[in-house]
Amino acid sequence: MKKKEMQSPPPVDWENLCHRCGGCCFEKCIDDRGRIISTPVPCRFLDIITRQCRVYHKRFAVDEDCIQLTPEVVRSLEWLPEHCAYRTSEKDGD
Ligand code: SF4
Repeated sequence: MKKKEMQSPPPVDWENLCHRCGGCCFEKCIDDRGRIISTPVPCRFLDIITRQCRVYHKRFAVDEDCIQLTPEVVRSLEWLPEHCAYRTSEKDGD
């Protein structure tokens, strides 16, 4: 997936929801039943010990597949982990 170029950055409070678990930074695949599966293969920029992005402040410049998780984008994604703070905050707001 490609970064949404026209998206405005999310508010700072939104970014603070993230638990920095790194769960979104592993390759995903789709199995033969159409289910989205997280693989053990991390993004090349993820520090798998700290679970922190090693290029966070320039991640969109160095990885064209990295996307900005705005509220609108989160609602449209099916591959974010169930435990992702952005997803759970959306459910809490229902
Ligand atoms: S899965 Fe969600 S909470 Fe975890 S690092 Fe990714 S965006 Fe943050």
